[in-house]
Amino acid sequence: MFEKSKWISLPRNVVVGHGVLDQTREVVADTHLTGRPLVVTSPTPKEVAADRIVAQFAEAGDDPELVVVEEATFDAVEDVLEVARGCDAGYLVGVGGGKPIDIAKMASDDVGRGFVSVPTVASHDGIVSNRGSVPEEGTRHSVAAEPPLAVVADTEILANAPWELTTAGCADIISNYTAVMDWRLAYRLKNAPYSQYAAALSEMTAEMLVGNADSIRPGLEESSWIVVKALVSSGVAMSIAGSSRPASGAEHLFSHQLDRIAPGRASHGHQVGVGSIMTAYLHSGENGLWRDIRDALANIDAPTTAAELNLDDDEVLEALTTAHEIRDRYTILGDGIDETAAREVAKQTGVI
Ligand SMILES: [Zn+2]
Repeated sequence: MFEKSKWISLPRNVVVGHGVLDQTREVVADTHLTGRPLVVTSPTPKEVAADRIVAQFAEAGDDPELVVVEEATFDAVEDVLEVARGCDAGYLVGVGGGKPIDIAKMASDDVGRGFVSVPTVASHDGIVSNRGSVPEEGTRHSVAAEPPLAVVADTEILANAPWELTTAGCADIISNYTAVMDWRLAYRLKNAPYSQYAAALSEMTAEMLVGNADSIRPGLEESSWIVVKALVSSGVAMSIAGSSRPASGAEHLFSHQLDRIAPGRASHGHQVGVGSIMTAYLHSGENGLWRDIRDALANIDAPTTAAELNLDDDEVLEALTTAHEIRDRYTILGDGIDETAAREVAKQTGVI
């Protein structure tokens, strides 16, 4: 008796390239979204992109509403929900980096309206994924949300974003290598739900990025093109899997734990990159993939050491030895790594 079934939600329109921001209204119309648009943004992306989008909607007679959020909190989600209900928004458009996009994504899920993602920085794969995350009490909550119906990624805008945000996005993608290793391990050992297709797509995305690492340089629109395509593809892998597994393993647990132990020191992508070096070492030892991961990160100017993350050795060791406690997700860290062993990994890989 065959009883398996699966539901995959993917973006319908993904529009990437030079000047595509000016096509946002057209992309929305093609997605058959109707009613009043509610544009959710934060101060900087408002200047570079959201004001232009609001003008497009206004010109088309869509009567757009705009809300500017300062922080990614559950209160901010509530505020956006209030505006969305008050103006009877037909759909939500998240414009910016992680914050406004995550907030718009979660709010649209709550009010049952469509969501369009307009990233202005290529800093992490949440711009396309079916997950939203909000920091609370020194930790991060990852919650299920709808993936965007459409993504509009203008490479001209992305190329002008601070370089370290782009290298963070690259590191987030490079970490797919170890996320997939952890996923396979959990599948073999714990019979965790696994999708070969999603795993292959996630790995291929990381390979393509590393293969193109030499052409990823500051201020180049071609670089933004490569990075944002990889972020989209990583998000699609998560949508196919129906979980963040293809792009989130022990290196992400390590990063979440750092957010708790040493908040605000380094970005998500940079932390997972360094985590990935160490968990790759744990997977395959001295001569394994960890050197390739470290070299790829170094090649794109992403941090590879504790010092480059503005962390001291003990903070890294504490995060590594406690990362397994964060959530019920089986990884190479198993039921926890011994402190002496953790110090050895961090030393051998040059992280401390
Ligand atoms: Zn990530």
